[in-house]
Amino acid sequence: MVMEVVLKNLFKKPMTIKFPYESIETAPRYRGKHEFYIDRCISCAICQRVCPNQAIRMVPSKNKEKYPKLYPEIDLGKCCWCGLCEEFCPKDAIKLTQDYFLSTFDPNTVILPPDREKDKSLK
Ligand code: SF4
Ligand code: SF4
Repeated sequence: MVMEVVLKNLFKKPMTIKFPYESIETAPRYRGKHEFYIDRCISCAICQRVCPNQAIRMVPSKNKEKYPKLYPEIDLGKCCWCGLCEEFCPKDAIKLTQDYFLSTFDPNTVILPPDREKDKSLK
């Protein structure tokens, strides 16, 4: 009986993948790491107000000459991935991407400042 099961499964494709060398596609509406488009933002702070986990703080940009107002800084450590910031933003300035590669040993990397570099690998 055992041998029968072994033989039956021996030539089947594995059910697992070699993560992190391989990954599976996320669902189309998966809510992952936030992308922020500072040029679209009008600093209305609606994202901050609707965030149920207080994961968003309005902070100054590093480039105060070009961006003189306050912009959202997102703490991924507090985020519950509800997507309300994206849904309520009147300018589509926040977009939750399909990036779920968020594990880190550096707690500072979970804070996303408003003028962060765009991640070119994102879809
Ligand atoms: S996804 Fe939800 S919890 Fe996370 S920052 Fe946006 S509003 Fe806050
Ligand atoms: S990201 Fe959107 S909701 Fe948040 S401050 Fe900018 S425009 Fe307003």
